[in-house]
Amino acid sequence: NFSSSTGIYTSPFPSLPLLPSSPPPSLPSFLLPSLPLSSHPAFIDSATSQTLTYSSLTSLTASISHTLTHSYSIRPNDIILLISPNSILFPPLSLAVMSSGAILSTANHLLTRRELISQVQDSRPSLILTTQSLYPKLLGLIPRPPVLIDHFLQTLTPSQTLTTTPNHAAALMYSSGTTGRSKGVICTHGNLIHVASALRRIWGTRNESGKKDVYLCVIPLFHMFGFSVFVCGAVAAGATVVVMERYSLEGVLEAVEKWGVTRMPAVPPMVVQMVKKREMAKKYDLRSLKEVICSGAPLAKEFRESFVDCYPAVVLSQCYGLTETSGPITLCDGVEGNLHHSIGRLIPSIEAKIIDVCTGESLPPNKNGELCVRGPPIMQGYLNNPEATSLAIDEQGWLHTGDLCYIDNKGLVYVVDRIKELIKYKAYQVAPVELEEILSTHPGVEDVAVTSFPDEEAGEIPMACVVRKAGFEMQKDELVAFMEDKVAPYKRIRKVMFVEFIPRSPSGKIIRRHLKDSDFVLQRPEISA
Ligand code: AMP
Repeated sequence: NFSSSTGIYTSPFPSLPLLPSSPPPSLPSFLLPSLPLSSHPAFIDSATSQTLTYSSLTSLTASISHTLTHSYSIRPNDIILLISPNSILFPPLSLAVMSSGAILSTANHLLTRRELISQVQDSRPSLILTTQSLYPKLLGLIPRPPVLIDHFLQTLTPSQTLTTTPNHAAALMYSSGTTGRSKGVICTHGNLIHVASALRRIWGTRNESGKKDVYLCVIPLFHMFGFSVFVCGAVAAGATVVVMERYSLEGVLEAVEKWGVTRMPAVPPMVVQMVKKREMAKKYDLRSLKEVICSGAPLAKEFRESFVDCYPAVVLSQCYGLTETSGPITLCDGVEGNLHHSIGRLIPSIEAKIIDVCTGESLPPNKNGELCVRGPPIMQGYLNNPEATSLAIDEQGWLHTGDLCYIDNKGLVYVVDRIKELIKYKAYQVAPVELEEILSTHPGVEDVAVTSFPDEEAGEIPMACVVRKAGFEMQKDELVAFMEDKVAPYKRIRKVMFVEFIPRSPSGKIIRRHLKDSDFVLQRPEISA
């Protein structure tokens, strides 16, 4: 659906109905009361088999929300940081926070204390909900001591009523966007409801027998991909989600067999492992598995092809989204058959443009350019950062994704490259600026730039290009060790290249595209801005 007069691509799906503006619906009131109180399992703990049915999900959410308001004095627009590995309690806790009128913020539990301090200084949560093992790392971050989820649940006051909130912001998740440090992405209830209803429309109706899907949730719920797919989409579709706390291939294969998993959202390293360890997979009965939905980072063509060779009965599809789009904005809906090289088509009500990276001009089908998207799930903006917000979303409401893509004549979108600074290690975000700032404090570093280096297993690894200070004979290991306790494991520097200079513009900005030039790698000093 491309209009050559406007240069805009529209979704091939009918638009979703507009949400009523009065009263404004909240994500929990949209998801839960619309469901008949049912004993159908919503979330199952893969390890313990503990189950939350749809009716217990609703009543637990209502009780947690009531307790937050009445025992913890949570007020609309307060920020609550939920920091926990995947668990079946994550969905009711997050929906309860939103139902109480507060804003749910999340963080990767692998972050170091210093990284958490910087996030907390930015978001200023009034309450932190966490688990026993994370407690020491979080103590003292805010005046109120962290609240342990297990203890908290013992203090619940039963309630059956889900309150509807008048406020707008629902979630605050962190992303570095196209440039700079990690920023708080504000997503509204309306943004998330849109993604939930789009996923219900596209995913909820595809089983001819009417049988509900069983999803495996192994990707993190603290990340927008996991949150939107499982807490918004799967619940909206009335599916069952089997939750795993931590990833291992054996654990995944066992869970598929044990729970009859039908669909598995995944990140590329999981698909790569399924290909490489196909012999191990043969020991399990995977007949229930219909689809693996890969997202979060690019999956190499070679692995897309070998996956369908190894698992001919499983559809390998892709979806694509950003934290800033509140989850997936493209999905594969079966038009390509079993093997998908595209990231699918635009979800309902999304518009896209492919723009020339130099001129900003809209491009016709099959031409590479930056993907820009517009529509109801686009974030409200970055927290307290109007400058970064207006860089990300232009005056006409287009979010510039920083991804180089093209759209073909069938409306299928293809990712070609990433033009933004962001590095994705196993689909986790790594912001180069953050690592550069820390590395530049090492006494032996004169100048430094961080960029990505291709890696078969992780997709990309962070690589530091370092100019050594005269007289310092420091080796790679020293820098790697220097970073070790300062950043989360997935952000560690895994490759160091010692160079003569860092390509910088006259204003001192690193010219990042030159870091990947072979000229730079060969250290030819004539590179200029
Ligand atoms: P995040 O905000 O962490 O979800 O990161 C969003 C970025 O992940 C996008 O801008 C892309 O660069 C990348 N990404 C997400 N899904 C895909 C996909 N299916 N293929 C390639 N890159 C993807």
